[in-house]
Amino acid sequence: MALEAETKSIVKQFEYTDDDVNQAVKEFLRQMSEGLGKDGTSMSQIPTYVTGVPNGTEKGLYMAVDLGGTNFRVCSVKLNGGGTFNITSDKVAVPKALMVAKTAEELFAFLALQIKKFLEKHHGDHFEQHIRRRMTVSSPDGFRDEHAFRMGFTFSFPVQQMGINKGTLIRWTKGFDIPDAVGKDVCALLQSEIDKLHLPVKVAALVNDTVGTLMAHSYGAPGSNGAVLGAIFGTGTNGAYVEKMSKLKKPVVGEYDASTGEMVINTEWGSFDNQLNVLPNTPWDIALDKQSVNPGLQMYEKRVSGMFLGEILRLAINDLMKNPDISFFKDENSSTNDLRSTTDIAEASGVYKMWGVDSAILSVAAGDHTPGLSLLRKGLDDTLHIHAAALEDAQSFKAIADAIGRRAARLSAVAIAAVILQTGKLSDPELKGEPIDVGVDGSLVEHYPYFREMIHEALRIVDGIGEEGAKRIRIGLAEDGSGVGAALIALVAAGMEKNASNADYLGELRSGAKAAAASEDNEKATSD
Ligand code: ADP
Ligand code: MG
Repeated sequence: MALEAETKSIVKQFEYTDDDVNQAVKEFLRQMSEGLGKDGTSMSQIPTYVTGVPNGTEKGLYMAVDLGGTNFRVCSVKLNGGGTFNITSDKVAVPKALMVAKTAEELFAFLALQIKKFLEKHHGDHFEQHIRRRMTVSSPDGFRDEHAFRMGFTFSFPVQQMGINKGTLIRWTKGFDIPDAVGKDVCALLQSEIDKLHLPVKVAALVNDTVGTLMAHSYGAPGSNGAVLGAIFGTGTNGAYVEKMSKLKKPVVGEYDASTGEMVINTEWGSFDNQLNVLPNTPWDIALDKQSVNPGLQMYEKRVSGMFLGEILRLAINDLMKNPDISFFKDENSSTNDLRSTTDIAEASGVYKMWGVDSAILSVAAGDHTPGLSLLRKGLDDTLHIHAAALEDAQSFKAIADAIGRRAARLSAVAIAAVILQTGKLSDPELKGEPIDVGVDGSLVEHYPYFREMIHEALRIVDGIGEEGAKRIRIGLAEDGSGVGAALIALVAAGMEKNASNADYLGELRSGAKAAAASEDNEKATSD
């Protein structure tokens, strides 16, 4: 029948073969090297000034905030020293209007306000004391630094980093568009709003979520030599890995600890292959790009991450709905309805609106193995107001959603494979047979059923990895990655402040992180 044939034709266009994967891995390696050589390439390969990954423990209470793209998360992380930590966290959705605010101030004032609310709610004592001190000490700046919480600021947009707590925004991604902020130091923007509210908080470190994930997973993964890659598959996608300084050919300005011979590189792989040398490009990818705020940019991310998969799906099913030759989500075709007698779609349904379909529905579709697709049909009803979908319509929806999700997972494998090959760890004789740890974070990889399994399946067919190599690659969720990772980097930064000489901050980081290795299973208090 027509619907089945149309569905098959759409699904086919999302197929991403083993050959495609291998070809893309080669191109990914080429673009990585290009980015290590000079500025202005598609993959930015940004030096992070973090020159090693942790493996031990430290004491102290740190704050961490995370602006990821969808949510703003505020947490405090107490590293107990004896190998344990506690996390308290709150999260709030960033209002859509603020993502395209007129001024940077509007967005950052909102962020500072959330920090204030968090402190009042969870650290009332500290907060009260601070306010009291402010009222009795004549020079607020005189004590502010000493008593302030050190905070790691996870800011997951491309930033030109100039120091551990200084970096200017290169460009917005993930639907944000506040031109006023581009070129400004995002730490200074946040600090200035924090100061306006008189909060006892110092922005001590600027952290990319990928770096936080890498750091957190390095001490979190048991029996590990440290993770080689931290990767995000959330609203957007990106990765950070440990690179040899000898391969970093472009100049690195400012100070860093050169003794390790390594530096963590933030790849900004969301913009891999903006030139479309190898990326797939279906009519729906093209349509999505055209309507996005940044056409021609973040082309890899637009095929992989949570912000976009739902929209690709929406565009594809809209073509089916508009096709006069077939009946899809229409009454005539609903003979097998078991919920209501006729299919109807509410006018306000997200299927009619740009960005109106959340990628979460792909996870529902992928996870529904019931013969009647009752879970998906309920999901369609609940989230998209598509009432009483017929079974065959739900089957078409699922087939297309699954194809989009599978392509995303296989594309994700391209980045992971290329980075692992780039590090040379699989052929390092010292590591013979040992696991290669990759820490991942983000709703997509966390909630999409079998996402990691599909990545693994693709890794097995990559030239230079193969069955044997893939067996050694462990992809683990870096839970609380952004909180613990950012806290660790804030700890490092606080150490750098104390001995401005920058004496042994890496040593401090190493010893500082040791106990945290054992801390994964520790008691946590989360109020997400
Ligand atoms: P952030 O990127 O802000 O750190 P997340 O990692 O939670 O936040 O990612 C949010 C993105 O993940 C959104 O684009 C959302 O559509 C998508 N998402 C949320 N839940 C799911 C799910 N169950 N399956 C697939 N994607 C999801
Ligand atoms: Mg995130």
